[in-house]
Amino acid sequence: MSTLSNRVVTMATSATLAMAAKARELRAEGKDIIGLSLGEPDFNTPDFIKDAAINAINEDYNSYTPVDGYGELKEAIITKFKRDNDLTYNASQIVVSTGAKQSLANVALVSLNPGDEVILPCPYWVSYSDIVKIAEGVPVEVKTSINTNFKMTPEQLEAAITPKTKMLWYSSPCNPSGSVYSKEELRALADVLVKYPQIIVVSDEIYEHINYVGGHASMAQFEDMYDRTVTVNGVSKAFAMTGWRIGYIGAPSTIARACNKMQGQITSGANCIAQRAVITALNANPSTVQYMIDEFKNRRRLIIDLLQDIDGFTCNEPDGAFYVFPDVTAFFGKTLNGVAINNASDFALYLLEYANVATVTGDAFGNGNSIRISYAASVDEIKEAIARIKKAVS
Ligand code: PMP
Ligand code: GLU
Repeated sequence: MSTLSNRVVTMATSATLAMAAKARELRAEGKDIIGLSLGEPDFNTPDFIKDAAINAINEDYNSYTPVDGYGELKEAIITKFKRDNDLTYNASQIVVSTGAKQSLANVALVSLNPGDEVILPCPYWVSYSDIVKIAEGVPVEVKTSINTNFKMTPEQLEAAITPKTKMLWYSSPCNPSGSVYSKEELRALADVLVKYPQIIVVSDEIYEHINYVGGHASMAQFEDMYDRTVTVNGVSKAFAMTGWRIGYIGAPSTIARACNKMQGQITSGANCIAQRAVITALNANPSTVQYMIDEFKNRRRLIIDLLQDIDGFTCNEPDGAFYVFPDVTAFFGKTLNGVAINNASDFALYLLEYANVATVTGDAFGNGNSIRISYAASVDEIKEAIARIKKAVS
């Protein structure tokens, strides 16, 4: 009998975390690596949130919390959903987790039976397909291209639906493409979905505030989709709180109560200090973090302009998040510094070795034509990284 389960043996390692670990390792060996692989704001958590955590420690918040989160935090989430998204939820529909990643895993584990299909418009966030597989679901990839700003059309959605389709998962703003679905575009997808009432939608809105065109739309805003949409969100990105590990869902109460049950057997309630801090974060006006979004917007302009100046990189203009997802197929079949580049993984590894810049292969996101570059890094790092890339490929 083998030591490890088939589940873990067949699972892919998170490519984003693996690349970040590799960059850390090379740095420890003395190499000057610029890390543009991890989607992690380079800002500090705002002081008013840190103060709330310090107060929580001093006020002796140290016990287990309710599995689905403190009542006050659920109230703050309900207020946030109403204020920012015009979504009405009650407390039985909210579950707080140890990050949006756990929220997604909960939803998969409580919704999928073996063989249930989950439609994933490509490119999708790296962990979606493995989370689905852990829950014994079957990821069904729908390919999109840079020419349509990596968005899935209603026709593509309909063509992917089979009697086994159980869910559709997407993120908007999208990690890795930065694409933002407008309300009209979501409505057009909803028009297809209403014909298939068994399909549950997972709408991952963790980049909601990092939107450069405005007008964030949620699938659950449509009355005919509300009862079968799970809205996933969290504080990692907008509040620069990646390590605090708090995410949450607003969902039909059947799904939310099942997530509560699942989480109660796996991790219990999320960290109590972090939950207290997030009450303060979510009760604040989103304008308190606008300075980060303004800065990301400047960096987006910078990185697109710099990349457009390199032959072989084809870039679209992402509307949100903090990634660019350039098509690099022009390099496939070429040999650079004696290294054969046959695919996006070869190219990302080449950049790591010859430019000392960490990026992530598009294969990890279900699109092997691109690489993902995070611009959640300083202007100086971005300039230096792209200059090194330019030199390494020319
Ligand atoms: N969804 C998307 C689209 C993401 O990019 C991430 C990355 N952090 C997550 C979910 C998970 O976020 P969290 O840090 O809250 O687990
Ligand atoms: N979501 C981030 C990313 O895509 C963080 C890493 C992760 O959780 O995979 O880089």
